[in-house]
Amino acid sequence: MRRIEEVLDGAEKICITGHIHPDGDCVGSCLGLYNYIREVRPDLSVTVYLEPFSENFLFLRGADRVDHTYPDAGPADVCLALDCGDKERLGASGKYWDAAKRKVCIDHHVTNTAFGDINQVCPKASSTSEVLFELMEEERITKETAECLYLGIVHDTGVFKHSNTAGRTMAIAGKLLEKGVSSSYIIDETFYKKTFPQNKALGRALASARLLLDGKFIAGAVTADDLRELGLLPRELDGIVDQLRVTSGVCAAAFLYETGEAGQEWKVSLRANDGVDVSRIATLFGGGGHVKAAGCTMHGEWSEIAGQLARLVEKQL
Ligand code: 5GP
Ligand code: MN
Repeated sequence: MRRIEEVLDGAEKICITGHIHPDGDCVGSCLGLYNYIREVRPDLSVTVYLEPFSENFLFLRGADRVDHTYPDAGPADVCLALDCGDKERLGASGKYWDAAKRKVCIDHHVTNTAFGDINQVCPKASSTSEVLFELMEEERITKETAECLYLGIVHDTGVFKHSNTAGRTMAIAGKLLEKGVSSSYIIDETFYKKTFPQNKALGRALASARLLLDGKFIAGAVTADDLRELGLLPRELDGIVDQLRVTSGVCAAAFLYETGEAGQEWKVSLRANDGVDVSRIATLFGGGGHVKAAGCTMHGEWSEIAGQLARLVEKQL
């Protein structure tokens, strides 16, 4: 695929969706594409379906029009799955995907299973937002579309600091800035700013952290009780694992939170420094992601899970 317009050919009804627990890149890419299609093809009917996401993203154009209720809807001519590595990660949107006449997957996860009829998967790209930029006609990207894509890139690169930040990423970010995006607003208000309970959760994760493998692996957790007490939702825990990862001497980090749905069930976020591929570890437990950032769900005591992960990291060292 060279241009997004190609896959819209002959279609009238378009559905856009992304992965469960939508993060900045997922929301940014879905809304960026939504705004772009409304600009270039105002004749089409477009709906975005996503699970509820951080209120920090609500300023993006179209955020208030995202459908979180998953109503029954007739089949779309084209369904686009963004930032989603496999069909299961579509969650409740899977029904729109199954019913759609043309299924298009646009992503950057190295573990992507190419589950679309058309797959535009670029593991070298920092973000799905970056992949989308390349599929858009630059002149037709409005300030509002640019804000969405810029936010996606900022979040998936950890503000241009992760190793997925290439020269091309910076060049694209520069072009988006020229559209009038407020970089400092997006970086401060949507990435760095934390509520008091979020900072407390970071504190609990750091206080619980254990060093394993002679300091080469770190793991920290927050329990379902912690989350209840702090009044936090899982989607408010972004960034904690990144603080664990920058502990000096560490090759890989894990942050776990108890999902509370099934007792002793933990959502695990993994991050790697050079020399470790955490996507391989996450895949062993039915998860996936990128070489340096991946996730999965695991069961048991969290300290045992940490030990199990440490042994898998050790094998790679
Ligand atoms: P995070 O730790 O920020 O939740 O996720 C890091 C990366 O791994 C993201 O790109 C995310 O999409 C991916 N990821 C996290 N959890 C899962 C999972 O359970 N399955 C798959 N396939 N990917 C995941
Ligand atoms: Mn992404």
